Amino acid sequence: NHDFDVISAARNWRTDAVDTATPDQIISSVYASDVLTLEQLKARLSKPTFKSLQATLERGATLDPSIADTVALAMKTWAMEKGATHYTHWFHPLTGSTAEKHDSFVSPNGDGSAIATFSGKELIQAEPDASSFPSGGLRATFEARGYTAWDASSPAFIMRHANGATLCIPTAFASWTGEALDTKTPLLRSVEALNKAVTPALKLFGASEGTRVSSTLGAEQEYFLIAEEYYYRRPDLVMTGRTLFGAQPPRGQELEDHYFGAIPDRVLSYMTDAEQQLYALGIPVKTRHNEVAPGQFEIAPIFEDSNIAADHQQLTMQVLRNTARKYGLVALLHEKPFAGVNGSGKHCNWSMSTNAGENLLEPGDTPHENLQFLFFTSAVIKAVDEHQDLLRISVASASNDHRLGANEAPPAIISIFLGSELSDIFDRLESGQGGRGAEAGLLGLGTSVLPPLPRHAGDRNRTSPFAFTGNKFEFRAAGSSQSISFPITVLNTIVADAVSALAAELKAKLEGGADLNSAVADIVKATYSAHKRIVFNGDGYSDEWHQEAEHGRKLLNLRTTLDAVHHLTDAKNGALFEKFKVLSDRELAARQEIMYDIYFKTVNIEGETTEYMARTMILPAAVKYLSELHAAGSSKAVKGVAAEVEAAADELFDAVQALSAQNTATGGDEVHEKAHHMRDQVLPAMTAVRKAADKLEKVVAEQHWPLPTYRQMLFVK
Ligand code: ADP
Ligand code: MG
Repeated sequence: NHDFDVISAARNWRTDAVDTATPDQIISSVYASDVLTLEQLKARLSKPTFKSLQATLERGATLDPSIADTVALAMKTWAMEKGATHYTHWFHPLTGSTAEKHDSFVSPNGDGSAIATFSGKELIQAEPDASSFPSGGLRATFEARGYTAWDASSPAFIMRHANGATLCIPTAFASWTGEALDTKTPLLRSVEALNKAVTPALKLFGASEGTRVSSTLGAEQEYFLIAEEYYYRRPDLVMTGRTLFGAQPPRGQELEDHYFGAIPDRVLSYMTDAEQQLYALGIPVKTRHNEVAPGQFEIAPIFEDSNIAADHQQLTMQVLRNTARKYGLVALLHEKPFAGVNGSGKHCNWSMSTNAGENLLEPGDTPHENLQFLFFTSAVIKAVDEHQDLLRISVASASNDHRLGANEAPPAIISIFLGSELSDIFDRLESGQGGRGAEAGLLGLGTSVLPPLPRHAGDRNRTSPFAFTGNKFEFRAAGSSQSISFPITVLNTIVADAVSALAAELKAKLEGGADLNSAVADIVKATYSAHKRIVFNGDGYSDEWHQEAEHGRKLLNLRTTLDAVHHLTDAKNGALFEKFKVLSDRELAARQEIMYDIYFKTVNIEGETTEYMARTMILPAAVKYLSELHAAGSSKAVKGVAAEVEAAADELFDAVQALSAQNTATGGDEVHEKAHHMRDQVLPAMTAVRKAADKLEKVVAEQHWPLPTYRQMLFVK
């Protein structure tokens, strides 16, 4: 009776696709084979040209136009050897995803033949029509053009599809007035701000000339897989990425048997295929496992420089999505595709590293390394306390609202988990326990080196949004579908701010004659005292914490996206981003406008989809079943069932009428007014519709139910 079938959903696994993806055992021959690495360029360019290019890369300046044509030719030749017919400037508009407009290498000769060309000009800059990308008012309508500019610090790569390949050139995207219309530009600026703030601080600790600092990032991606057969029969999944209906199945995640469980063959084959493609793109994926919810999985790479990690993270999402189709699966990256089981996040592991590879958040095992570690860790504590709002805003979205604070993901209150060992060290430093001054060992702790700090395995204390994990911090509030660029831009900038303040204090003390040890000790103590309210090692889900955080410690609790987003343009934040030249006031205001706009549109689509599905799929199913019941006589069972169905159907009808009224209303003309209308009127009306529909799902005959159920979607693998 069903036009969707459980058995075919389970079997719809095209094993022919699998043969083409037999893993290459020789990882070194696959790894980065589709990446135009420096070595590749070196082999293809003359020595002077390569030297000139390398100098450009190191200085981060624009390419010397006199060599641009030569470099472009080398890139084209390489790309064509790899089977590419087209090239694209690949960029990150403010939609949070990526954009590409392909141009072929074909250039007609005028005599009916054609050759392949790609000029230096085409490599360095392109002018996509910017008018269809969100600009938050940055781009006046009379000036629709924008331009993309080559980001030579992230290598070009080949993107493959079933019938060919495209050369992708990572680029920044800006308006003609020079304002950033993308997520990459501010990220690059924030890396530079971090470098400028941290390098002088490191010099005070004796770092050598030529030291540069960047941030490192490893993002763990959670996602769901469901059978494709079901996906296309769920308008809600197709339109909104999440299920807007669905009664709880008899079994959810309560058996705790899925997490780290054996990975089903179909899924493992899929993962292996995706990994092979990611290796070819030079993306160092390392870890794969089942996550907590049924049908939920995770993939994590080894960390990289944050700009490259951000590019690679977008590619990872793309490969996960594309590859699933070969296996009759769909990868859902939404933060909350299913109610009642865990949602998906994207933990951002972050640290700072020198160009020599020294991790500044690694405690190390000498007193000198420890001193530096405590200094930079204090700076992170100060940064997170002073800019809780920005971290919260950086992960705010309509979809992540279903997750943050839902007792499965970190709360919307930002705090830091240091772990008992490191907290103990800071507490003892603050109270001066264990001896006084540098004589009594490292900063007066009575020992000359810090005890080794445990590296917490993955998920200990899941409840903290920002956790120290041995030699890095893990920002866990980020959502599974979002770009990591803005959260990392914020982290880099707020830490640059804190480090430059603490470095100025340190410099003053040293110039005043203090020795490094006691100067650092004073700064660490004072910083920790001033900001320790942000440190919390307990259960972030508990009611007591919410009380204590908000009332005792006066931490911010910005529950929903709209509570958070209006703080983005607070004077403090404008001044911070201006000071470090990461975002101008106009660029910041544009981002706020776009966040409101995306929020409004997201919920608006959900509201419309809910109404449409309730009216055209669910109510008709209930009515059909009712008419069948009415024709089935008047036994006790028939009358009883009919009464249940009728009550739920009436409730659904009323709820749909109410939702319909809210879908038609707007709440105002301004985008933030429309957004508030969505949060305060449309979302509750949708919830009422869902409640009635989910009741119906439990009483309507399965053969009449028009949607694949949670029971099917989550358990057919
Ligand atoms: P844990 O088990 O404590 O979470 P892992 O070593 O498994 O630690 O790391 C989890 C993620 O953190 C991985 O993506 C890893 O590459 C990343 N990571 C490790 N060290 C750093 C670092 N210095 N900077 C950024 N990310 C890091
Ligand atoms: Mg995880």
